Amino acid sequence: MRIAIGGISHESSTFATVPTGLDDFKLRSGAVGPELIQRFSGTKTPIGGFIDAARVANYELAPMMFASATPGGPVTAEATEVLTGQLVDGLKAALADGPLDGVMLALHGAMVSDLDDDGESYILRKVREVVGPDVPVIVELDLHGNITQEMVDLVSMPVAYDEYPHNDPYERGYEIGLLMPRIVRGGVKPTPVLVKIPLISSLQRQHSYAEPMLSVKHLARDIENERGVLNVSYLPGFAWADIVPNNFSIIVTTDDEPAQARRLATQLADYIWSRRDEFIARPVPVDEAVRHAMEASEGPIVLADIGDNPGGGAPADGTILLEALLRLGATNAVAVPINDPESVERAFAAGTGNAVSLHLGAKVDTFHGTPLDVSGRVVLLSDGLFVHRGLMSTGVEMNMGPTAVIELDGANGGKVQVVVTTHRYQPTDLEVLRSQGIEPTSRQIIAVKSSVHFRSAFTPVAKEIIEVDTPGLTSPRLDRLEFHKIVHPVYPFERDMEWKA
Ligand SMILES: [Zn+2]
Repeated sequence: MRIAIGGISHESSTFATVPTGLDDFKLRSGAVGPELIQRFSGTKTPIGGFIDAARVANYELAPMMFASATPGGPVTAEATEVLTGQLVDGLKAALADGPLDGVMLALHGAMVSDLDDDGESYILRKVREVVGPDVPVIVELDLHGNITQEMVDLVSMPVAYDEYPHNDPYERGYEIGLLMPRIVRGGVKPTPVLVKIPLISSLQRQHSYAEPMLSVKHLARDIENERGVLNVSYLPGFAWADIVPNNFSIIVTTDDEPAQARRLATQLADYIWSRRDEFIARPVPVDEAVRHAMEASEGPIVLADIGDNPGGGAPADGTILLEALLRLGATNAVAVPINDPESVERAFAAGTGNAVSLHLGAKVDTFHGTPLDVSGRVVLLSDGLFVHRGLMSTGVEMNMGPTAVIELDGANGGKVQVVVTTHRYQPTDLEVLRSQGIEPTSRQIIAVKSSVHFRSAFTPVAKEIIEVDTPGLTSPRLDRLEFHKIVHPVYPFERDMEWKA
């Protein structure tokens, strides 16, 4: 048995002003051909899961390619064509070497391309053109996928992450890797059923450590344990995409029992609908959050700058929370990151230990505050490379590009350190600070540009976590954005609507 593996992964915000091009994919983890195995063996990634499952189940892998980029604007036509072309070339090369029994792909589910609002269907159509309609194709998806019926029809079955923060891409990859031989050898015939719930939920209320997602996860696990059920996936989706399939998706896959799959997907969908209001975030005003963190008897208090999360396509250069920290005189505080290559260059020109004045942040668009004219001292300069040590992306190297830690002078003698980076990065691992000489547990306030993923690493060290109501591209206040394509009625836009799966 021989299975081709690979993937293309992107989460696209149609509201982000910077498109995602080929160079953005090169910056992030990528590999072609046999390098894929080398690169992802031992990592807690979907491909890492495929590799280990193939070893255990004793089948051969034909590596194609994998590419991902930090969430941002829609993927350009060029990048879509070049990357899909690479994947298809890898598939053809694998076929030229011998027969293929299946394909396992790590996709996202929320990729919007300039060529197709449904980026995954674009990729899968090209894959089907090569392998035909009958070869088993299983895709792993991020639970932020905005799923279409076409995408489900193009695959044998989709399997989404269960956890947000995404601590289980490896486990789901492993699950797929063990399902594949059962399908190839004919013992199992997957029948996935998709049910769409007219609910656009706040990213901040999707995390699986707390209600309502905790109960959703438990109900999904109970359903998955029912006889004949292969997988239950629940995808609350990615709100900042003005596309038709933007809402909550349930996919239940059974073994040749579509009626059972539909019944169970309906049950889960109706349960989620009954708790719809709990999926809407209600963040704390900026000044109130900062004052609370300053007054807390014990730190660290983690302030989540949820409006400017690079993991949701925001520029990570927003200054609104940083401005409040400086103005209100916060001290022993750190903000991570501010993405501003120009300020990094100034810090490098000044040198470690020296004074520097900056026109800092808010340069990419007008949604995240205005640049701050600030002065301070360069504390540390680095290449911005570190390896994830926590639960998420364990073993994966991150490249923030040249990075500077700068201590800024605030009001009333306040001191706020900022980690200023060349590339965008969402802080999901304590190494983002420790690699920069900052021990998170000794800080009073840590401001992170993240909606939820920071919780994976910061929950164990935080005395308290506050979601701060910063405006921006990843603010849960969707009424501040202009949607044209989403399907109405949809909650919470139509607050009084009724619905049943
Ligand atoms: Zn995600």
